[in-house]
Amino acid sequence: MTTPSRDNSQSHFTRARQSIPGGVNSPARAFGAVGGAPLIIDRGDGAYLWDIDGNRLVDYVGSWGPHILGHRHPEVVSALETTLAKGTSFGAPTTLETELAEAVIAAVPSVEKVRMVNSGTEATMSAIRLARGHTGRDKVIKFAGCYHGHVDSLLVQAGSGALTHGVPSSPGVPAGCAADTVALPFNDVEELTATMENIGSEVACVILEPVVGNMGVVAPVEGFLDACRQLCTAHGCLLIFDEVMTGFRVAFGGAQSLYNVTPDMTTMGKIVGGGMPVGAYGGSAEIMNSISPDGPVYQAGTLSGNPLAMACGLATLKVLRDTNPYDRLDAVTSRLVDGLDQAATDAGLDHVVARVGSMFTLFFNSEPVTSYDVSARNDTERFAAYHRGMLDHGIYLPCSQFEANFVSAAHTDEDIDATLAAARAVLSDIAG
Ligand SMILES: *Cc1c(COP(=O)(O)O)cnc(C)c1O
Repeated sequence: MTTPSRDNSQSHFTRARQSIPGGVNSPARAFGAVGGAPLIIDRGDGAYLWDIDGNRLVDYVGSWGPHILGHRHPEVVSALETTLAKGTSFGAPTTLETELAEAVIAAVPSVEKVRMVNSGTEATMSAIRLARGHTGRDKVIKFAGCYHGHVDSLLVQAGSGALTHGVPSSPGVPAGCAADTVALPFNDVEELTATMENIGSEVACVILEPVVGNMGVVAPVEGFLDACRQLCTAHGCLLIFDEVMTGFRVAFGGAQSLYNVTPDMTTMGKIVGGGMPVGAYGGSAEIMNSISPDGPVYQAGTLSGNPLAMACGLATLKVLRDTNPYDRLDAVTSRLVDGLDQAATDAGLDHVVARVGSMFTLFFNSEPVTSYDVSARNDTERFAAYHRGMLDHGIYLPCSQFEANFVSAAHTDEDIDATLAAARAVLSDIAG
């Protein structure tokens, strides 16, 4: 198969590298793990992207999660146009903010009040501050392989033991910022129980992705989320579900409704903005009333609740509520994942597949991936070959083995068939 021309992307990327660090505004977009220059995107429509060389791609990135309806859903576009005609930002309340807050609260019963911010990072950063302010405690427990944005205190990987104090995973994060962060293995109830027995009275919150999307898709094992809930209640600390990726994705009510576990606080992003920069954090009225101006915990934002962003998120949530695409998304995604599984088996490749709702990962690993330690053993070279091959067939996958793939309501049965045909060719090719 001949490689499609990418000359325009190549030369634009060379230019971008002169003025933007690494040529990208977020490192996940760089093709460092798979080689080559990232494609420069011209436009998107439904399930497709077009790059600036005119190549059409079936999109399984969906802007890293927001586009559950596909690109340019007509109702989302129309809401944006109506709002744009009135101006872009006022720094004063609008009705759209209240409507989006009400829509979130209606979808996610554990949320009684919600504050809008501009990114998932801001949501988790603010939620941690609120948890600390509300409990009067400093320590935060997170899990290795969970990503909560680039918040200083959350940029901490696994320490080796349960009580290992945090070691920052980036220069520029002062040791002091990470010192109150304890990183534990995901899905390990024993470690969490032991840690809580030791330091539970100092812990402000336990934060986790209830379904991890940021080490590839890793589902919680039976009982793990319940154990998190029970231990937080027993030790008087807050349970924060970071549903920036899973919110409105794995179910309309998020992972908490899918697994029927109620957190104290929830962080959101991605779909809640429908493709505009939005984050949100919410919880019980009692907790949320500690936020400024009602309470003492400070958090603010000049552009928070931006009308265009609110209109985009609100239109997205309304379409999701009214069309309820989740059963079809489940069915379409499971057909895709079963087909990938079969194709990799036929090619004789070590692999496992993981799927929750319309999030999935094909891992080049021989064991089920339940934690970061296992995920770290993925065959990333094989993944890179798979990614390159799929791209040559016009299939746009996340450019890292450690990211989730997303199916949207705009993907047709024919798109899935084309993807599976490409995967059969590519997987047998890279096995040979
Ligand atoms: C994407 C993501 C974030 C960070 O959101 P940004 O908008 O990139 O700051 C936080 N938590 C989870 C679970 C995410 O997937």
